[in-house]
Amino acid sequence: MRYSQLFGKTTKDAPHDADSANASLLTQGGFINQVTAGVYTYLPLGLRVLTKIKAIVREEMNKLGAQEVLMPALHPKQLYDVTDRWEKIDVMFKLEGAGGREYGLSSTAEEVITPLVKAYAHSYRDFPVALYQIQDKFRNEPRAKSGLLRGREFSMKDLYSFHLTEEDFLEFYEKAKAAYLAVYRRCGLDAIVAAASGGVFTEKHSHEFQVPTPAGEDKIYIDRKTGEVMNKEIVPETDLENEKKYEIVKSIEVGNIFPLECRFSKAFDLKTQGQDGEMVDIIMGCYGIGPSRVMGSIVEVHHDEKGIIWPKSVAPYQVHLVTLSSKDATVNGQIEEAATSLVDELEDAGVEVLWDDRDGVSAGEKFADADLIGIPLRLVVSAKSLAEGSVEWKERHEQDARLVKLEDVAEQVHEWLEAPERLTSH
Ligand code: ATP
Ligand code: MG
Repeated sequence: MRYSQLFGKTTKDAPHDADSANASLLTQGGFINQVTAGVYTYLPLGLRVLTKIKAIVREEMNKLGAQEVLMPALHPKQLYDVTDRWEKIDVMFKLEGAGGREYGLSSTAEEVITPLVKAYAHSYRDFPVALYQIQDKFRNEPRAKSGLLRGREFSMKDLYSFHLTEEDFLEFYEKAKAAYLAVYRRCGLDAIVAAASGGVFTEKHSHEFQVPTPAGEDKIYIDRKTGEVMNKEIVPETDLENEKKYEIVKSIEVGNIFPLECRFSKAFDLKTQGQDGEMVDIIMGCYGIGPSRVMGSIVEVHHDEKGIIWPKSVAPYQVHLVTLSSKDATVNGQIEEAATSLVDELEDAGVEVLWDDRDGVSAGEKFADADLIGIPLRLVVSAKSLAEGSVEWKERHEQDARLVKLEDVAEQVHEWLEAPERLTSH
């Protein structure tokens, strides 16, 4: 992709209400554009990152044996009358349709998935079953803030599992926990599992996945004696400031899994005849990840004063090629030719290249833009590098550049892509 053709360039301006690194850097880098508080357009660069995060989530969900569906975002009120949640979900956007019909915009989907499973699963042989979707959710958050971290429209992967026995549920729950950790690891995030209270659904514990960073609005409590990690709700009130007992760390909740027990299956009369002929209520679990919040969290954890530092796995492009024009027309022709054949060679090998081919833009500006955008590998082709038959190779998280012979670049890029991620969270 030629940067000169890319829609959505870098900009010096961040939104006036940018209150976080991800809001500023993603806007300045040309990834997202704020429409109103908590509502964003993803520009081509930003959409590439979000799509890669969703692909990682999808792969891990599929490995777990879950099947993908896509439910509507427009939910009729009647479904919430069944569960008595129309008034209880205080963040639901409510609207009136033709003929005075009432709808809510999806903030979660238990009310749609439970009747769906009831419609298709008729015997104990149809269980267990796990279904997920990746869909935009809408929540009328009292305060949208921190860029992608707390939006009013945001991406969510929501998974729901249905089981005949508690034992089977628990086994799946543990597998889902491991799949979640794999998702975060692959996205370059070190997430910690924290025990949390069950919210409105259940007395039982649920689990949150928390990424420690000063930018987080949550706090996790790590018991200094036992190492047990908890969120605020289950630490006794009197201990909330007790730094002797707990190490208290600011963090972002990037995921949440919890048992629903039979709350929704009872409401929708989802049961089946067990092997012994007895009717059993279906036991459910639900599991959420916010891919857009994950994207914001990656930026919070991986950036420096110059811009973003994307992990290879989710970078919008893997290689940022910069050509620096020369005053000499012949040399310019050689730079263009070397760059074109390098791009062709890399792209033929499946490498994603963003080529900053702009004319009349200084080297300083191109490098500043490359640092801001944060693609993990920068290659420079200039009169100077060509004099050595080379390109200049610099990884975003490193200080120094080195020369690599033109004919070796493709192979070295390949090796670099295969090598384990070297980024560590900060
Ligand atoms: P929070 O406690 O942060 O408000 P939640 O516990 O209500 O979130 P869930 O209902 O469990 O969130 O949603 C699953 C996941 O969706 C969360 O773990 C988070 O990653 C993401 N998420 C929730 N609300 C938002 C939001 N307003 N903006 C972006 N992502 C969100
Ligand atoms: Mg929460």
